Amino acid sequence: MAHLIPENLLEDILGRLDIVEVISGYIQLKKAGRNFKANCPFHHEKTASFMVSAERQIYHCFGCGESGNAFKFLMRHERMEFPEAVEILAKKTGVHLPQWDQPEVARAASLSSQLYKINQLALSFYENNLQSLNSTAASDYLLNRGIRLETIKEFHLGLAGSAWDGLINFLRSKNIPLSLMETAGLVLAKESGGYYDRFRNRIIIPVFNIHGQVIGFGARVTDNSLPKYINSPETPVYVKGRNLFGLNLAKDSIRDLDCVVIVEGYLDFIMPYQEGWKNIVASQGTALTLEQIKLLKRYTHNVVMVYDGDTAGELATMRSLDLLIEEGMHVKIAPLPKDKDPDVIVRQEGIKSLKIKIENALSFFDYKLGILKGRYNVGEAHGKSQIASEMLLTINRFDNAILRGEYIKKLSEDLKISEHYILEELNKLKTKVTDSKLSPSIVQKKLSEINPVEKLLIKFMIEEKELIGKIMQELLPSDFQDARTAKIVQVMHDLVLKGKNIEPNILMNYFNEDDANQLVCETMFMPAILEDEREKAVNDCIARIKVQRLKSKREYLHVQIKSAQNMGDEQRLNSLVQEFHNLIKKGD
Ligand SMILES: [Zn+2]
Repeated sequence: MAHLIPENLLEDILGRLDIVEVISGYIQLKKAGRNFKANCPFHHEKTASFMVSAERQIYHCFGCGESGNAFKFLMRHERMEFPEAVEILAKKTGVHLPQWDQPEVARAASLSSQLYKINQLALSFYENNLQSLNSTAASDYLLNRGIRLETIKEFHLGLAGSAWDGLINFLRSKNIPLSLMETAGLVLAKESGGYYDRFRNRIIIPVFNIHGQVIGFGARVTDNSLPKYINSPETPVYVKGRNLFGLNLAKDSIRDLDCVVIVEGYLDFIMPYQEGWKNIVASQGTALTLEQIKLLKRYTHNVVMVYDGDTAGELATMRSLDLLIEEGMHVKIAPLPKDKDPDVIVRQEGIKSLKIKIENALSFFDYKLGILKGRYNVGEAHGKSQIASEMLLTINRFDNAILRGEYIKKLSEDLKISEHYILEELNKLKTKVTDSKLSPSIVQKKLSEINPVEKLLIKFMIEEKELIGKIMQELLPSDFQDARTAKIVQVMHDLVLKGKNIEPNILMNYFNEDDANQLVCETMFMPAILEDEREKAVNDCIARIKVQRLKSKREYLHVQIKSAQNMGDEQRLNSLVQEFHNLIKKGD
């Protein structure tokens, strides 16, 4: 939550309100022991896994991992930006907010807003290039591809010239430091020192977030050279799995028509859009992520996937299918002939041809069954069983029992297998997946890999401020192996030094990453440790982290020693080996 609003005001607001009351204004909460619970408003579920803690003033969903404080709830539930959520809750609690667009505050603009600004400057540079540089080849290329002038303008297409330092010099003239250009992913460091432009000799396609801010760029060659596309790397403002190309332009149409067409590439979006097809987004390659699906769910539950007819497209479609179904979306698939994508179809056959393909889109059932029949021999018992079990993997993801029943009946008829056997297989599948849960989000999966010892220590530290000092005498934040736990520890440590309180709902005002917030909330809902076992538990955790620290130091030295050996650096080798011996003596 990067922001410019003073921390003490945020604390003041949070201190005056009750999160239970705030959330109750939007969904119905039921008392559950010390907490409150509800069906999660952020993911589709039948049993309540959304918890609100009055004591901690936070919420956490055990199903999808969504969590945070009262600000975060408003941001997510009402799709607000942070300042807007603060304003609303300030009004509610009677806290007076100063105007935060004052110059001194503006100077402290967050990293994100600096990156948006740099990206915007880069966009104007590229756009200007396309118009003014010796760029007839580039313009001709676009026009020949059927992209009209007004489309070039609407999408702010641009051109990166052949110079190695064109953008660098332009941004320098605007007093942008090189380090920020690098963070924005626009320049690359040379091995010999210095920097060069990431994009050269390419058409530039800016990528916008849902609010219309430039977050990154795609860059396409104008000839047949490879790679065809290069893209901005991920940056603090550009997380690829969280964005959908074109959603900023398409969202109103998607909502109005209550349907979205998902294509793969930039041009697959641009060409149909130009022809008046506005309810469309591009996933930018690969399969959809859970976050992208959640983004779409705000506007519609009806999806038509139009993916390239090649193997990669097929795989991406199959993977996305299951996730979409699990999220309660109604999915259809319009498979395209091999080697044809929407861009090519619109150019060669016209928008009508694409329209017909979308209107005739297949149900998930027919699409997947068709593909599986191409893969396995349906005439053999073994092939049949393969097809059935792969179909069941998807059918099993439907929340609705009636739908599941219908599809099982269809499958039984199509494969000529008794429904009884199919149900038997489905039940096996069910017992297998209930433990591991069907839909762990990607974020959650990563978080769950964090060492539980680190999580437990964080829980102790949040619950008992005195422990932070004790633990910090023994450990450094960097001893925590996960970047997010390390960051949380660092922030707590800093706050204690400043004499501040550690409350979980306030703590999360200091994190930009959702993951860190989620982690804090998750630890708060972990089972409590009995009072008389706490001290031992804390000591055990510290000891374990020390062992882990030693182990990673050893591994690090090991790698260093190997590299010194390879390079024949005797002197360095000797000192490293010495260090290694010291470590072992000290450690064991
Ligand atoms: Zn949830």
